[in-house]
Amino acid sequence: MAKDSEGGGETRAFKPISGNVMPRFSGIATFMRLPHIADPAEAEIGLVGVPWDGGTTNRPGARHGPRQIRDMSTMTRSIHHVSGIKPFDLCRCADLGDVAVNPIDLMDTLQRIEDFFARIHAGGTIPLSAGGDHLITLPIMRAIADKNRPLGMVHFDAHTDTWDKYFGENPYTHGTPFRRAIEEGLLDPKRTIQIGIRGALYGNADNDWGIERGIRVITIEEFYELGLDAVIAEARRVVGDGATYVSFDVDGLDPVYAPGTGTPEIGGYSTFEAQRMLRGLAGLNLVGGDVVEVAPPFDPSGNTAIVGATMMFEILCILADAVARRRDG
Ligand code: MN
Ligand code: MN
Repeated sequence: MAKDSEGGGETRAFKPISGNVMPRFSGIATFMRLPHIADPAEAEIGLVGVPWDGGTTNRPGARHGPRQIRDMSTMTRSIHHVSGIKPFDLCRCADLGDVAVNPIDLMDTLQRIEDFFARIHAGGTIPLSAGGDHLITLPIMRAIADKNRPLGMVHFDAHTDTWDKYFGENPYTHGTPFRRAIEEGLLDPKRTIQIGIRGALYGNADNDWGIERGIRVITIEEFYELGLDAVIAEARRVVGDGATYVSFDVDGLDPVYAPGTGTPEIGGYSTFEAQRMLRGLAGLNLVGGDVVEVAPPFDPSGNTAIVGATMMFEILCILADAVARRRDG
């Protein structure tokens, strides 16, 4: 494959279309201007949209996230300006399209998402997804986790998403995915770290369920007490060298940076601090990632989707580096 990520013709396979060949505002929007392909096995990293917000308990809108993130991601260029990583030279990357969700049936949609990602996983492809609300991570984990060796996770969020049930006996909402994932043996709580947790609680023991099972919860207060480098070191220590998933809920950011989300909580970290943390995860054994809870109807400026697209690029760079290291030994 050609080394030139801005190349044309056949050498452009699995590479973004350059803004010097076709203006960034033109053409059909795909994630990062990558080719849209039907067979996931052809790609090493597949970018996927999950346009579904049926797990939302408050303000819906994240179903519109993937389309606007695709649009805003046309700004993506090919070289990370700090690490120097060239994800499109390291790996074959492609847009695998959207999961065909069912907006009026939660259980059916969970199955559809799991089936879609099982097909990706069967081909050995690593998924990087755009939500959708945070419940989408549960069926993704059902598809990609090895139950004999559950996933570790670096989780950026204002909320732990380990609540139990909502509205009586409903176990599946965007506030519950990681409780379910731990119960199902998909996620190892002792290799899970949650960063940015804040906001008023329903009860004093809300976060205790996860902490009692070994989740490392870093509240926003502790985040600023420790400082960025110590938080990065703690994340690396917690997940170790096992298979690890990165889940980035945009509401972990302060809402001044990402107002377009369903459950905003003031007093969060900045976009730059989040970028620094994601870069700090380079070299881990990463097996997938997502950016969730971008809800365009609450941000007419489109900035939250730019944030989502840029965080996807940050995650793509560390994923591509991990994929290339595993492949090349
Ligand atoms: Mn969340
Ligand atoms: Mn959240």
